Amino acid sequence: MTERKPCRKCLLEEYDEARYQELIRREIDWMDAEMRAPEELYRKRLAICTECEKLLQGTCQSCGCYVELRAAAVKGNCPRKKW
Ligand code: SF4
Repeated sequence: MTERKPCRKCLLEEYDEARYQELIRREIDWMDAEMRAPEELYRKRLAICTECEKLLQGTCQSCGCYVELRAAAVKGNCPRKKW
């Protein structure tokens, strides 16, 4: 059995919301334009996520992804087929 490295972002006491938003925004900005979902589609997807019971602090409890990153990718999809 391999030893797992501790996840340094799992403690809520260390959660820095501003830093998280900055990192997510930077990842989205780095996406090639052809890989990025159009703004209208991105916003529509996020609106669905914000109504979903699986959304928790920016992550999807179904797949563990950051929903803003998943929604920003034109080929992104919802693991529960909501979008
Ligand atoms: S990706 Fe799908 S399952 Fe996950 S929070 Fe968004 S709508 Fe819900």
